[in-house]
Parts: sequence; structure tokens; C-alpha cells
Amino acid sequence: MSAERRPLVAGNWKMNGLRDSAAEIRAIADGYDAALAARVDLLICPPATLLATAVVESDHSALRIGAQDCHMKASGAHTGDLSAEMLADAGATAVIVGHSERRADHHESDEMVWEKAEAAWRAGLMAVVCVGETEAQRQAGHCHAVVARQVRGSVPDAATPENLVVAYEPVWAIGTGLVPTAEDVAEVHGVIRAVLKERFGAAAQGMRILYGGSVKPDNVGALLGAADVDGALVGGASLKSSDFLAIARAYL
Ligand code: PEP
Repeated sequence: MSAERRPLVAGNWKMNGLRDSAAEIRAIADGYDAALAARVDLLICPPATLLATAVVESDHSALRIGAQDCHMKASGAHTGDLSAEMLADAGATAVIVGHSERRADHHESDEMVWEKAEAAWRAGLMAVVCVGETEAQRQAGHCHAVVARQVRGSVPDAATPENLVVAYEPVWAIGTGLVPTAEDVAEVHGVIRAVLKERFGAAAQGMRILYGGSVKPDNVGALLGAADVDGALVGGASLKSSDFLAIARAYL
């Protein structure tokens, strides 16, 4: 972690959570005390159906609420989609774009992710742009090339340290309990930082790069301690307030 970058721990609830999950949001907001808030930003991205509820449950704290995807257009005939403007209107301040589950399940390309990040910025949201290699790509020795290509193709030219977060999420580590070594993570984050520097110069030094993939309270210490790791994107373990807060407390 660098002095120029404030850590961020973000939770991705995916397609989980009903109205009674509001209690978990409130517990996270309550547990986000002054000591924690002094050290780390916290963001929870519930399903869109819970956005407005999450905003209300967390309005007494600095916990930020975000969404998991957005359409690239501001409005129009796109049944079932949500625009970044709608998410902002519901109280979101950030949106995840290009998660590997959307790249796989909805055939999202780097170009689409680029447009979605631009849509997020148009609506005033911070974009959390996800990249990461598959197991086959890693085994073939293509991990660095794949991740560099995704960063070049998915992060738009108007990126700044305030509007962009990159999340490195190896696909094979998501929801599997498998995690790369801290050395492997540091290496890939170094590749991402180098691509950001090539494109954005000195501003790249302020851009946060999160690690995501099976982060749990018991493995977070080693991962967050790796060079160029500015926080975590947490899936499963973000659903339980005690686990999510335990992960964030790694920064205390
Ligand atoms: C994710 O999908 O963003 C993720 C990191 O999931 P998990 O922590 O469950 O591996």
C-alpha cells in the first residue's frame, strides 16, 4: 500500500440478498467506526433491488453503496437494463463494470466495459473495472499479456485516481477458495500499474488496484500486504458483516 493511495475494501453481493439483508448492511455501517474510517474506504455493492434500502441503512456512516453493472446508454429501449444515471439516482456512488461473470455470462467485451466505465463517469459514479485471466490462460503463461490487454481495452482515456479503481480478479480464484500467492498478485498488480503509467503518467501512482478472488478473513493479511495491492474486492465473504469487517480490519 502506498502513502498516495487510500485502501478500499469493496463487497460484491452478486445475485444474493433479499430485503432482510438490510440488517447486514446496517451492521457493516455500524461496525465502520472512526478507527476503521480513518484507515480504509468501504463500499458494498448489493443487487440493484436493494440499492435504495442500502443507502438508507448506511446513511449514518461513511459506508459507500455501489452497483454491480450498468448499461452504457443513459436511457432508452433496453428492457431489464439499468443506466448509470438510474443507479446514481438510487444513491449509488460507484459501479462495478466488466466483472468476469458478466464477461462470461453476458459476453461483455473490453469495448463494452470501456463504454460502461464512461457511462459511470457521465453519471458521476466511480468505476471499478475488473480484469483477470482464466485458469487456461494462466497455465498457458498468458496471464500478464491477458491482463495488460484487458486494462488497455477496458479503461477509458479519461481515467483519474478519483473515478477509477481497477480490480484484478483471476477467474480461477473467484468463489473457489483458491488464491494466488502474494508474490503472484504483486507481479500482476505491477503489470497493471505499468500499463496505467504508460497511459496516464504520474496520475497512475494514485490509482487504486484491488485484488479479488476468495478473499477471507484468514488469508487477507498476506494478500493486502503484497506490493501494489490497494485493497480487496470481496464476493462471498462480504455477505456476512462480521467477515467483511474482519477483512477491512486487516488495515488497522
Ligand atoms: C468476486 O466475484 O468479485 C469475488 C471476489 O468473489 P469471491 O470473493 O467469492 O471469490
